[in-house]
Amino acid sequence: MGKRIHNFNPGPAALPLPVLEEIQGEFLDYKGSGMSITEVSHRSAWFEEVINDAKVRVKRLLGCGEDYEVLFIQGGASLQFSMVPMNLLPDDQVADYVNTGSWSAKAIKEAQILAKKVRVVASSEDRDFTYIPKNIDFNEDAAYVHITSNNTIRGTQWSRYPDTGTLPLVSDLSSDIMGRPMDLTSFGLIYAGAQKNLGPAGVTLVVIRRDMLDRVPDNLPTMLRYTTFSAKNSMFNTPPCFAIYVVQLVLKWLEETVGGLAKMEKINKEKAALIYNYLDKSDFYRGTADKEDRSMMNVTFRLAEQSLEQIFVEEALANDLGGLKGHRSVGGCRASLYNATVLEAVEALVSFMTDFERRYG
Ligand SMILES: *Cc1c(COP(=O)(O)O)cnc(C)c1O
Repeated sequence: MGKRIHNFNPGPAALPLPVLEEIQGEFLDYKGSGMSITEVSHRSAWFEEVINDAKVRVKRLLGCGEDYEVLFIQGGASLQFSMVPMNLLPDDQVADYVNTGSWSAKAIKEAQILAKKVRVVASSEDRDFTYIPKNIDFNEDAAYVHITSNNTIRGTQWSRYPDTGTLPLVSDLSSDIMGRPMDLTSFGLIYAGAQKNLGPAGVTLVVIRRDMLDRVPDNLPTMLRYTTFSAKNSMFNTPPCFAIYVVQLVLKWLEETVGGLAKMEKINKEKAALIYNYLDKSDFYRGTADKEDRSMMNVTFRLAEQSLEQIFVEEALANDLGGLKGHRSVGGCRASLYNATVLEAVEALVSFMTDFERRYG
């Protein structure tokens, strides 16, 4: 096997090594079928079991009951930016959106393209999206409230979700789904592109409360209706079989190897604390997000001497620490610490940062 590096990529991102090994081990002959999972029919018992097991595990991990449906959809989280308003926001109603960065802004823009009525009820744009807005007044007549749970680019995260009363919350959890336990009760719908915390690119997880399905209009194209996916076990047409299979293995790893989301959160907190504690006591590096709102998943930081940032990223890679360049829209550095990134990788990163500071500080 070739050498593997410590992977801090923002997405697609690290997958758990035991999962990659399991895929490798059964890739040519899936459970005695004599075929690869990439070669079997999606209508076969082999794949039916994969998708059904994945759904059961999603529900168990998120602690949601029969009133929620688990769907697998293509088109990425970006398609959900339009599917959500298409399906859940009638033309004569209004939805409240909170703008906490580029992904929120894209969700807002897609709703506007559809000529839907959107109110931006809070934004952190005034301080460059370095914090999460507090004490937001939501409108009583809102069809739903949309938030971005974790802001992958800016490194902020809702540590507690806003109280929206009876208004259904809709959230983009692309970069922190399954990173911690959550109470779905106030959520009408959550969605997440798989390629950050759940699996490979190519599939998006949607969990929708059943009553929200009643809102879906009949005049939408078949493949854009949530009801098509709920009625057909996400297999109206050929689903992204391989991506769903990997997601299933990641969910199994979360349950059986990690031991559930409370354990996962504990590990994630430990990883994030290691690097934040270092940033907090250094004058050489500077975290970019407000302390109380910073993300467990994406640690964004700058070097006091910004001209050193490129050297930092290059030298890090030469030391087998990959993916540390900040998003092209904001610059700087970013370490993405998704579930599959192990504590040892973060220890190696902090040790490199210490050494780099000693040499250049
Ligand atoms: C990466 C990301 C997206 C975009 O996901 P795609 O699956 O590429 O469309 C959307 N929202 C958030 C929060 C993300 O991190």
